[in-house]
Amino acid sequence: MKLNEPFCVPAACLLSIESALSSRLSPAMLSLHPLHQHAPSVLSIRPKASLPFCPLRHSITFNNQAAIFSPRRRRELYVRALDAAQPFDYESKLAAAHFHSSQHLKIAIIGFGNFGQFLATTLVRQGHTVLAHSRSDYSDAAKSLGVSFFSNPHDLCEEHPEVILLCTSVISIEWVLSSLPLQRLKRSTLFVDVLSVKEFPRDILLELLPADFDVICSHPMFGPQSARHNWKGRAFVYEKVRIGNEESRISRCEKFLDIFAREGCRMVEMCCEEHDKHAAGSQFITHTVGRVLELFNLESTAINTKGYEALLDLVENTAEDSFDLYYALFMYNKSALEMLERLDLAFEALRNELFDRLHNVVRKQLFEKVQNSQDSYTWPQNGAALSSSALVVRSQDNAQPYEYKGQISDRFDDNLKLKIAIVGFGNFGQFLAKTIVCQGHTVLAYSRSDYSDIAKKLGVSYFSDADDLCEEHPEVILLCTSILSTEKVLKSLPLQRLKRSTLFVDVLSVKEFPRSLFLQNLPPYFDVLCTHPMFGPESGKNGWNGLSFVYDRVRVGSQESRVSRCDRFLDIFAREGCRMVEMSCAEHDQHAAGSQFITHTMGRVLEKLGLESTPINTKGYETLLSLVENTAGDSFDLYYGLFMYNVNAMEQLERLDHSFESLKKQLFGRLHGVLRKQLFENAEKLQISWER
Ligand code: NAP
Repeated sequence: MKLNEPFCVPAACLLSIESALSSRLSPAMLSLHPLHQHAPSVLSIRPKASLPFCPLRHSITFNNQAAIFSPRRRRELYVRALDAAQPFDYESKLAAAHFHSSQHLKIAIIGFGNFGQFLATTLVRQGHTVLAHSRSDYSDAAKSLGVSFFSNPHDLCEEHPEVILLCTSVISIEWVLSSLPLQRLKRSTLFVDVLSVKEFPRDILLELLPADFDVICSHPMFGPQSARHNWKGRAFVYEKVRIGNEESRISRCEKFLDIFAREGCRMVEMCCEEHDKHAAGSQFITHTVGRVLELFNLESTAINTKGYEALLDLVENTAEDSFDLYYALFMYNKSALEMLERLDLAFEALRNELFDRLHNVVRKQLFEKVQNSQDSYTWPQNGAALSSSALVVRSQDNAQPYEYKGQISDRFDDNLKLKIAIVGFGNFGQFLAKTIVCQGHTVLAYSRSDYSDIAKKLGVSYFSDADDLCEEHPEVILLCTSILSTEKVLKSLPLQRLKRSTLFVDVLSVKEFPRSLFLQNLPPYFDVLCTHPMFGPESGKNGWNGLSFVYDRVRVGSQESRVSRCDRFLDIFAREGCRMVEMSCAEHDQHAAGSQFITHTMGRVLEKLGLESTPINTKGYETLLSLVENTAGDSFDLYYGLFMYNVNAMEQLERLDHSFESLKKQLFGRLHGVLRKQLFENAEKLQISWER
């Protein structure tokens, strides 16, 4: 007989064979319990080809099939494992005594991929003995982590780990568990899984494991990316599904849980059903968005907003996870398909909103063109000019009487305080006013709507009349109007009432557009500073420290007073700790306009889904929630402005759509593959039964 050929043994002859084998081979490993209902009639023992014949290294096969037990063989496995461990009682008692005295556990990780290795690092650091087994060969990775790697699960189980930590993919768990030679483990072994869904593995563990194995179902709500620095504050969800009431078992369970508690995890005891209700949905959405954005190929820019950084983080957090993990969240979450559909609908609805509005604008323009060609040209009622050339002349003319006064007040420019008029006192205008007032500047405001009450509360003087405002001679006109209305508002301002040296600043989220608007419509003696605070009322609610402020001194006169006024204005942001980024408007638009549009689009799509916080949010899901919070407060005008004034917006919308479509294709392609396989297998089975 060749060593690597299996030899078959009738079950009845087992005892004699056992004694013929090494005395180190436990007879119980091969014995059959009398109560065993479906005992295989024949056992075979296959020596390892490459190794000298050693009983401890033999794998057992039933009826010439490898002992990688199929789920169909569960019952046989069940009884054998119960029976098999008995002769180890003495050994296990000794080990138990040792276990009590030691704080450390012997933990075998099954499935040594991404997550298994991530957990191993901390387990080893805490001083536990870590063993590992996986489908692929990770011996090098294991060695570098201080883990003993076993390619053969029999060898691993014979090491009698106290804990089996299942870190396999959701879709492979049943197969992996069925293939473990459970009979080689101590009967009291604790099984723990870390799968991202919980009801499914709990049912499998209860079905496949002998009744005297302990079971904890757990889900660390973090991963190698989201918790790469530490696990502090991260939720660790667990359910003690079945823990024997012996003290040693209870204490082992606590020791295991303590691994996470001592790393600072937020320990959440929660039943598997509740976990799935909270987590499966939120996780699926988080991973879907992360994957769509990964396919979209987001890139970091020099001036990321907080929202955009959140998107980049999300991609980083989810991109490292295997597609298997994502697919499992889809397959083992009852509402995943519905969520995918809702996401699709939300995206569709947002696109429709944009296109409807676009359509209205174009239609209106077409009709206005016809109307205008019929009307004769008339001067506007309030004296503001319609065309830029007319404006330049009118404001030059009218400004002359104020020249002297203007020169006098120039002397006060050395004063650190500025008189700033905010034009457009909506969401963002009010947000800026708070800080500017706090710094001691004089703030005036003017807007289309009446904000006098709000202004009063903020310490701002409110003007309902633009002429009155301009007659106050503010040193800075700060335009905080919507992107869409800026042209109209600028053209309606009685510029002639301002001092000729006035500094015009805008804060629009796009930059080339207001720059050319200013240059075309403002007389040359006005200074122009184009800026973009890369934050808003939500992302900057706890201060502006570290947030980017982009600016371009488009046109600032060389007089010292003008230079100093511009610097004093910029200093408002610098002294709040902003990261001051001097950058041309063109460069800004290149970097920011695209990333902002995508951030706002994602925020608005997710807002339509009505996401809700759960007691066990992952970091990724929190990112999504804060993205919604960051963008939901912004007006649709702002979003529409980003769409209209970003040349690439349409292409980006299409690319996003394409990324979403290809992700769906990946999911459904795999689903189709599985179904097709099942259909063909069923057809084959039917064929065989017919032939019989
Ligand atoms: P927004 O919707 O972009 O702008 C609202 C402002 O525009 C209000 O003051 C509003 O005046 C005025 N406005 C809108 N339509 C008008 C019209 N037809 N005629 C006259 N005025 C009109 O929202 P926002 O958040 O306040 O943003 C203001 C500017 O700041 C925008 O250009 C935006 O790009 C920029 N920005 C915003 C953020 C942010 O996070 N929100 C960050 C950086 C830069 P009334 O309220 O009086 O109607």
